[in-house]
Amino acid sequence: MTTPAATTPVPRLLEGRHALVTGGGSGIGRATCLALAREGAAVCVADRHGDAAREVAETIAAGGGRALALTADVADEAEVRDMVEEAVAAFGPLQACFNNAGIGVTGSIGAGRLLDEIESGDWQRMLAVNLTGVFLCLKHELRSMRAHGGAIVNMASIGGLAALSAGAGPYVAAKHGVVGLTRQAALEYARFGIRVNAICPGHVTTPLIGDDPQRLAALATMNPMRRLGAPAEIAEAVAWLLSDRASFVNGAAMVADGGRLAGA
Ligand code: NAD
Repeated sequence: MTTPAATTPVPRLLEGRHALVTGGGSGIGRATCLALAREGAAVCVADRHGDAAREVAETIAAGGGRALALTADVADEAEVRDMVEEAVAAFGPLQACFNNAGIGVTGSIGAGRLLDEIESGDWQRMLAVNLTGVFLCLKHELRSMRAHGGAIVNMASIGGLAALSAGAGPYVAAKHGVVGLTRQAALEYARFGIRVNAICPGHVTTPLIGDDPQRLAALATMNPMRRLGAPAEIAEAVAWLLSDRASFVNGAAMVADGGRLAGA
């Protein structure tokens, strides 16, 4: 048997690319910033919490990578516009964007509340961040990327493809919206050389899902793999989707859930 060319180095996925990650200060966004930097990208780490973004950018720089921290609330169009402009000014045209920032179930949303028990203000806030936030980022990134192409991944969820337990209604509606927006953007921008995909994780251990051991154990039990995902496992999929190795993947809603939806 001939030995494969094991000595041929595998090129890094995103060598020399310029990447932007929203919600990059924590959880899946943080893990993705580190993965993109490891794969050779200069990374703009954007977050509503500037200190968190700075910590991630400093970690990348300490490892020899290039990174810039940006403070931006994705629900605020002026801040999103400035975020994109600052990113382009720092590292040149954007080539890889991960619209990841999002919030979980809080306030009257969650805790098993049915739709008729949800406050309109909580619904509005959920949609403003988790759906309008993705639209605003897409809008300004696409404007910037039209001239030269690139790849975008939007953060959805298994809640973008199926209903979840009572209390998750607004979250599920927002994430279904992200999947629809992703498909629409993929159709509209393919002719500009821009691919747009969504990632749909199952439950992943981050601050967003909390640290109640009983709840985490219950969520793990619902998964065929009997565990939750790790942020780095989602980051790997996002890095691949953003790279040229996914060159014919467009408009997809990629599930990374340990098989949770497989039987749905
Ligand atoms: P997280 O709370 O660890 O990280 C979210 C980050 O987004 C934080 O740094 C936060 O400051 C930032 N953020 C929140 N609102 C923002 C805003 N308006 N503008 C800018 N930044 C903002 O949570 P996570 O689990 O890493 O969540 C990241 C994304 O993944 C979310 O969109 C979430 O819906 C999605 N998701 C999470 C899971 C999970 O189980 N953790 C599963 C599926 C999808």
